[in-house]
Amino acid sequence: MLKNRRSRLKPFFADYALDAVLLTDLRNIRYLCGFSGSEGALLVARDSAWFLCDSRYTAQAGEEVQSAEVVECVAVRLDTVASLAAENGLNRIGFEAAHTTVSAYRRMTEKLSGIELVELDSKLDEIRICKDTAEVGQLKSIAVLASQSFEAILGKIKPGVRELDVAFALEFEMRQRGADGKAFDFIVASGMRGAMPHGRASDKVIQSGDLITIDFGALKDGYHSDETVTVACGQPSSEALEIHAIVKTAHDLAIDAVKPGISCKALDEVARSFIRGKGYGDCFGHGLGHGIGLEIHEMPTLSPRSTMVLEEGMTVTIEPGIYIPGFGGVRIEDSVVVTSDGCALLTGVGKRLLVL
Ligand code: ZN
Ligand code: ZN
Repeated sequence: MLKNRRSRLKPFFADYALDAVLLTDLRNIRYLCGFSGSEGALLVARDSAWFLCDSRYTAQAGEEVQSAEVVECVAVRLDTVASLAAENGLNRIGFEAAHTTVSAYRRMTEKLSGIELVELDSKLDEIRICKDTAEVGQLKSIAVLASQSFEAILGKIKPGVRELDVAFALEFEMRQRGADGKAFDFIVASGMRGAMPHGRASDKVIQSGDLITIDFGALKDGYHSDETVTVACGQPSSEALEIHAIVKTAHDLAIDAVKPGISCKALDEVARSFIRGKGYGDCFGHGLGHGIGLEIHEMPTLSPRSTMVLEEGMTVTIEPGIYIPGFGGVRIEDSVVVTSDGCALLTGVGKRLLVL
């Protein structure tokens, strides 16, 4: 499987006439060799690969790293890269420009002075864009865990409880059910705070009549889940009901439109034009969704500016919203995997308005 993933680097070897690629981004490293620790580098040549780490990680790398030789660096890691390059005739090495700081780049040019360093832009991260069966399984199981955790704490969402209490209860539930942690700081935005698309859980107390936008996700083995449910605490106003219904329809229309071959821009427009037609075009300021995987936000982006086209195996969120300052907001989000003729849901909470 990892060999298969590594073959996705082939176009880079060809297009940039490379002898090797040096990877330092931990997500790309995990994807290509299995290492889950917090420091290391992976040097991939056409027919061989080396995982470089210091002594803190040698045992872990020995257990986790597949199809790469584990090399323990006794001193400076770039010196080890330099000697491996010299021993194996690697004269032209690509590196992840999008994940390299200016100072790291300066160190590279110093330590690898005889080597031609070739900048590979964020296109390199696109090797992870179409998920394989194992990844879809991991994304599905963490999404189900998060959805079930949410359903288990519904009884705790009630007037008098702080937004933070809801966030803590949800994270605790996820961890009890086996998550490694939360995928991001949960958004729990109640009442007027719902107008902030990214309103983190605060110490605001939930009141009867509030709509509450809860955006949550869990993390397991490096993979993230992402889902948003907007619930009502007590009987919602007619305007709140109307806005929820519009966002729900926009969400459903977009999910129905997901299939290989549709452009990300056209998919965004499916939801956006519906919301615009209802008179709320100015209240939906963000893109329709994003890719999800080893990063919470990754390629492709679904927005009016997207240039990509959906392919089978991509995993994306669909998350239209309406945000009205001084009133509140609604967002509804599911994560899906693109299948051969449509899509399958990863997330599992039903999206009809729940009145608690
Ligand atoms: Zn989300
Ligand atoms: Zn999202």
